[in-house]
Formats: sequence, C-alpha cells, structure tokens
Amino acid sequence: MPAETGPNGADFNPFAAMQPRRPDAIPRDFRNGGRVKTADVAPAGVYLPNNNVMTPAMRSPEYVQMSTAAAITLGIMPGMLYRCACTRCLNLLLTYPEGCRANCAYCGLARHREAERDYADRNFIRVDWPAVPMAEIVEKVAGDGENTPFHRMCISMITHPRSDEDTVTVLKQWTDRIDPVTVPVSILSNPTTMQRADVETLKDLGADIFTVALDAATPEIFDRTRGKGVDSPHSWKKYWDILLNARDIFGPQKFGAHIIVGMGETEADVLNLVQRLVDLGGHSHMFCFFPEKGSLMDHLPATPRDQWRRVQLARYLIDYCDVRVGQMAFDGEGRVTDFGLPQGELDAIIDAGIAFRTSGCPGKFQEDISACDRPYGDSPPSNIASYPFQPAGADIRRIRHQLDMEKPGEPYEPGEEFDDPDDSPAPEARAP
Ligand code: SF4
Repeated sequence: MPAETGPNGADFNPFAAMQPRRPDAIPRDFRNGGRVKTADVAPAGVYLPNNNVMTPAMRSPEYVQMSTAAAITLGIMPGMLYRCACTRCLNLLLTYPEGCRANCAYCGLARHREAERDYADRNFIRVDWPAVPMAEIVEKVAGDGENTPFHRMCISMITHPRSDEDTVTVLKQWTDRIDPVTVPVSILSNPTTMQRADVETLKDLGADIFTVALDAATPEIFDRTRGKGVDSPHSWKKYWDILLNARDIFGPQKFGAHIIVGMGETEADVLNLVQRLVDLGGHSHMFCFFPEKGSLMDHLPATPRDQWRRVQLARYLIDYCDVRVGQMAFDGEGRVTDFGLPQGELDAIIDAGIAFRTSGCPGKFQEDISACDRPYGDSPPSNIASYPFQPAGADIRRIRHQLDMEKPGEPYEPGEEFDDPDDSPAPEARAP
C-alpha cells in the first residue's frame, strides 16, 4: 500500500531515500533464458503466467504478451476490472526466453530476475502478462471491426537484439488486417537499440504516436535506476537523441515521454521536464512510482498521494490548459505551492477530474483522455493513483483531501468511495 506520507513523515519521496538495492548474482544456467531454452517446451496457444510449470519457449514476432486488462477485454482471461467496463488500449509486449536485457531498478521485467522467474512469468506494472500468438490477436480484433473496444494498440519494444526487426513485423501484421484509423498504433520505443532510420521506418509503416520511456525525470535518477547504477545499458543522452528524432519524424502532438513520479526527483524537476516536452510539441505520460514486487526498488515507499496529486494537477495544467511552469510557485523542497491559476479556475479543473485519470496516448473520447488507461498499474484499487475511469463524487472529495484543498462543507469521509462506487459516470462518459 502507498504511504500517506513518505520517509520521516515527508509528503514526498526524497532522492536520498530512493536508492535501489543491488541485484543478486544469477546462476550461470539461468542466464539469458537458459532454463527455458534448455527445456525447449513447445508453445501451444495462449500461455497464462504460472510459476509452477515450465515456461514454453515463446518468441516474438509469433508471440507477444498482453496486459491482464487487455486479456480480460479480449476474453482471453476471465475477470472483471474494478469500476471499468474494459480497457481501451491493447498493450502488447515483445517476448523472448532471454527477456529484456536491461536491468531497470523499478521494473518487474528486469534482467536480474532471471535468478527467480522466467521472463513470460514476470509481473510488470503490478499484473501478469499472458503470452498470446500474434495471429490470434489480429484475428480477434479484425473480426470485431468497427465494434472493437480498443481505441489504440501499443507495441512495447523492450531491450533485445531482435526488438527493432520484430516490432516492424508485428506492426505490419497488424496494419495488413486492421485499419490504423480504426485502431491507431503507438510505439513504446527502446532507444538503446534504435537509430533514426528505425524511427522513420515505423512512421512509414503507419505508426501514429512514438513514445520514449524516459521514466526518470533527471539524468542522475536515470543513471541510478536504468544506467550504470544497476548494470543496465541505457543512457539519458541516447533516449533524448531518439526523442528528438521522433519530434522531427512524427511531428507535433505525435510524440511523448513517460515519466515516473516519486523516484527521488523534486516536483519542480518533473514539471520543468513536462514544460520542456510541451515546448518541443510533445506530451508527458505520467506514472506514480509503485514498488513492483521482485524489482530492485520493491523495498521503497510508493509515492505519497500529496506529491502525486500536485504533480498530476500541475502536469495537466501545463499539457492542456496553457499554464506555464514559470507561472507556478515552489517551496524550498521543490513542492508546488501555487498552480498559477485563480482558485475558481483551478476548482473547475479539479472537479472535472480528468487531470487525475491515467495519462497516455489519446483515445477516441477526447484529446485529454488517454486510451491507455492501465487499470491499477500504479496503485491498488483501494488507494488509486491514476484513475482508469472518470473520478466523481467521493473520488473528487478524496482527491481534494489528498491535495489539502477540501471545499468548505464537503469533507472527505475515509472509505466513502467504496460505499456507493456507482455514483460516478460510466468510463465512456465525456467529462464536463
Ligand atoms: S528497458 Fe523497459 S522492460 Fe526492460 S527493464 Fe527497462 S523498463 Fe523494464
């Protein structure tokens, strides 16, 4: 569960407290997917993650993994999503027995996990990722035609020597059968293995939006969590090189960067980065840090809700309301103390609730509502960080309580959102 406050009662996660642990040594036989490759169990259709069986040797481009929410929406897994009818984004992940060759400290897919869990069985953003033949996915979505529940598909590349080539194959396989106007495609790139020509190829093949998972808001945090600090191959400079290539090639509003909030940066750090992306013509897609089980940061506190809500609100103002970070005020710890808008205007934006929804590439409802709703990818449903549905009523009172901006006479009663969760509109409802 996320803390109400961070270390030593602070309402933010400071840099000094967010040090990843060192990875354990990996037995030789387990390296590079050794166990899966030695057993060489032939895949037989859909594989649901299960740590008690020998994981089949599945590889992209024939196989991809998909989020639990996407598998439930497609009817591949049983289940329901708390207060969501479905997910609107079909998130696909390239898959290999060797897995991702990077070692990012906050990530459940990281290489160091070879010691304890085969790649296709690893949890990622808090959920399992079933492996499914790509042909079966295309067949199902093409069969639904205009009635598909998905507003967008996203290919996540991971770090693997084959990922550039296989991303192209997966994208082609999709666009051969599915009109990218019906379901536009986003690419969550892996800059470490890419060149400018790779970005051009993906654009030429019909990709709509290109994103770069910077994840860390500063070069120091990047290096500590996904570079030399954890024996991982990524560099801040290479990520920015590819991001700037994407700006040139995909154009305004068609590129963006992922940022995880609460890994030791200040609120001013994140919001200056958000402003930089907006000034370049792009968008930021925000994630609230959650200590992923099995990751090198699983001992660290989730981002306190105060910090997260301030950053969510300020990011929305910069991305969609023409407020500039220079209009905002910060205290000595870099926390937002003034959002740069008159209280009445700020109240209207808070009450509309969109600022607190999951952020990402847009769907078909409206430009500022993300198709990529990632239900409960950065929090448990009991203490939601990014709302995968339209927050209303008690949700807004809770958000206001977390922001220390309760309205007079409208206090939040702890737990009231669970008493009558149906007082919010359906997820499809357009926000005011
Ligand atoms: S490159 Fe991406 S998938 Fe691989 S460990 Fe880093 S965050 Fe996870």
